[in-house]
Amino acid sequence: MKLRDLTFKGGVAVSDNKGLTNHLSIESAEEPSIVMIPLHQHTGAPCEPVVKAGDEVKVGQVIGQSQAFVSAPVHSSVSGTVKEIASMAIPTGPTVDCVVIESDGKNTMDKSIRPNGKLEDLSPEELIQIIKEAGITGMGGAGFPAHVKFSPPAEKKIDTILIDGAECEPYLTADHRLMVEEPEKIIYGLKVIMKAVGVDRGIIGIETNKPDAIKALKEASKDEENISIATLKVKYPQGDEKRLIDAILGRQVPSGGLPMDVGAVVSNISTTRAIAEAVMEGKPLYERVVTVTGRGIKNPKNLVVKIGTPFKDVIQQCGGFNEGAPGKIVMGGPMMGISQYSIDVPVIKGTGGILVMTEEEAKPEPMHPCIRCGKCIEVCPVHLQPLYLSSYSLKGDFDRAEALHALDCVECGACSFQCPSKRPLVESIRLAKREIIANRKKTN
Ligand code: SF4
Ligand code: SF4
Repeated sequence: MKLRDLTFKGGVAVSDNKGLTNHLSIESAEEPSIVMIPLHQHTGAPCEPVVKAGDEVKVGQVIGQSQAFVSAPVHSSVSGTVKEIASMAIPTGPTVDCVVIESDGKNTMDKSIRPNGKLEDLSPEELIQIIKEAGITGMGGAGFPAHVKFSPPAEKKIDTILIDGAECEPYLTADHRLMVEEPEKIIYGLKVIMKAVGVDRGIIGIETNKPDAIKALKEASKDEENISIATLKVKYPQGDEKRLIDAILGRQVPSGGLPMDVGAVVSNISTTRAIAEAVMEGKPLYERVVTVTGRGIKNPKNLVVKIGTPFKDVIQQCGGFNEGAPGKIVMGGPMMGISQYSIDVPVIKGTGGILVMTEEEAKPEPMHPCIRCGKCIEVCPVHLQPLYLSSYSLKGDFDRAEALHALDCVECGACSFQCPSKRPLVESIRLAKREIIANRKKTN
């Protein structure tokens, strides 16, 4: 099958600003002196601590665990001493219990960490168990436990695993660098997922603005007859999993549905690489590549950072802030990232980037009345009507917003980006979604 520059209907062209870091090799961050590791950094049940103040821990040791199926264990990223378990703010907003560990700087590995053997000798059930015990969650931001995603109900017939190599969010280059520097691991991780789910077709979708990544993955997969590389048009939000399925497979996930409803499972590059490491090396998810970038930072970098490292340490290792910064600090990119009000928060499994904008860049543009130009409708990749959804939300009429499928909004921000009147579209739709979900919980 020849796959070329595929795409979906809608979306926007954004300045990708990836030139700040897309040429920079991944470096290891300095060992943090202290880490704060959240016990709830994934979708699903929070973990309970299995260590207490005063305990000695090793790198990769389990420090938080839950019996719930939809959850993911949490591991220590350093060797050292547990100082306390305390409630702290994390970059996704809420305050959660964190295990605070002082590093001894020795990086002593937990002795349970060892390779799991050859992929051909491991059964799908064993692979799912390895992924679960490694605490792997979606590293593109949603934080959904990977072992749950890879265990679809028997009635859902999956025929394709898609890997999101689009990395369409401006500024972020962690996945790009991983594709260039570790393509064999990405292919290995894809083969693990294919075997775990019982599928014999894998496709990696990459936007054409990453020719070096396309070349590296084509080379790494040249002997894999069940794996192909799909080149995608550069357009935001190409990396959204439902847009990826539409672009590559030509299938539309129904309203309220999931990729498995159309026979697909989607994983992102960092997650796929973490899965490869879990099987090959027995390594749990205790560190990740983070793009530290933006015109507000002195020396942008792609860094391997231990989970739990405070943002301020990472920023310091990149030379600190430029003059006139920070106007705004975001976890992730400018379109779907989360604004931060403190740099004391820790890096979590879903931290793909730390973006520092200057004051000038962060200045809000004045808002004007809606001129009914319809541009927000044109670009919405989900084919919603953002102007009406937003207007109902601002009036508190959440029933009408629900009737117009507000819950299908993927909060990509394309509508707000395109709106000439600078209406707060995504913010108000997000509010409507929260209210609709809260109302549903109340009435159930
Ligand atoms: S309504 Fe939602 S899905 Fe549609 S463009 Fe706006 S943020 Fe994206
Ligand atoms: S893009 Fe903005 S101004 Fe145009 S219709 Fe949508 S909300 Fe109104």
